[in-house]
Amino acid sequence: MSGFQLLLVAGTHGNEINAPWLFDQWDKKPTLIHTSGLNLNKVIANPIARKKCQRYIDKDLNRSFSPELLENYANKDLETCIARELVLENGPRGNNPSQIVIDFHSTTSSMGTSIVVYGRRSVDLAIVSLIQKRLQVPIYLHEGDDSQNGFLVEAWPCGFVVEIGPVPQGVIHNKIINQTLLMIETCIEEINNVINNNAIFPKQLIIHRYFKSIDFPRDSSGLPNAFIHSEVQSKDWSPLSIDQNIFANIEGELFKLHNYSKENDLVPVFINEAAYAEKNIAMILTKKEVIDFQTPWAEDLYDLVNI
Ligand SMILES: [Zn+2]
Repeated sequence: MSGFQLLLVAGTHGNEINAPWLFDQWDKKPTLIHTSGLNLNKVIANPIARKKCQRYIDKDLNRSFSPELLENYANKDLETCIARELVLENGPRGNNPSQIVIDFHSTTSSMGTSIVVYGRRSVDLAIVSLIQKRLQVPIYLHEGDDSQNGFLVEAWPCGFVVEIGPVPQGVIHNKIINQTLLMIETCIEEINNVINNNAIFPKQLIIHRYFKSIDFPRDSSGLPNAFIHSEVQSKDWSPLSIDQNIFANIEGELFKLHNYSKENDLVPVFINEAAYAEKNIAMILTKKEVIDFQTPWAEDLYDLVNI
């Protein structure tokens, strides 16, 4: 029997409640999602934060998986302890090991259903190319942003985040539930296809690579004194011209993109994401890239699932 196992994670952020709710329903009715025999395990990552409907208790769990933090046993933050326990239990060398992890989130931004990949690991690009081919979902590639690290999926040999929005924090929404369900089913089907040697990889992959994040204009006391311009609000994934107004203040003063970057055709994501206010991020600017599928990516993925 194959030793492969897929790990599905929900509730990494305690106020993103749709995927955990769906997991609860799935627990009550195990036939809710057809797994076609795939060996899988599902975990609600931060049940204490979920109970309080808070993103986290001590610190962001999805920034708590850096090796330095995991190995620093003097650090007793709740989320660092959860991260350590999750890796010890379900990590690739854990008691109940999984090789691929999918981490389900929701966003207040109008991003629809999208995938977030961290860096360019071959196995990640191989698996998300199959999902993009099936569902045409956009892929945000987070790389080159040294201010943010320690993401959950990086502690596994293969993994990615699913972001679904828009939905307010702490709200169950039919569209978000249905999209989460569709993504879970599609991921299971495509991983089964890889295991059974039936996967058909695309020739190309479209990604949106991290370029820079930008903050709101602020007054002398540090408070935001402008809002996202109406032409940009809820326009995640729509390319911006260099002269686009991106912020406006109450007096009608406009702030154009060229004050922040000289690049044309940047594509904004996570516009006005509520959770990013504390990180001083009003939106993240990305650059679209079409990359050719590389055969070794598929070979690496076959090796990973056939253990
Ligand atoms: Zn989240």
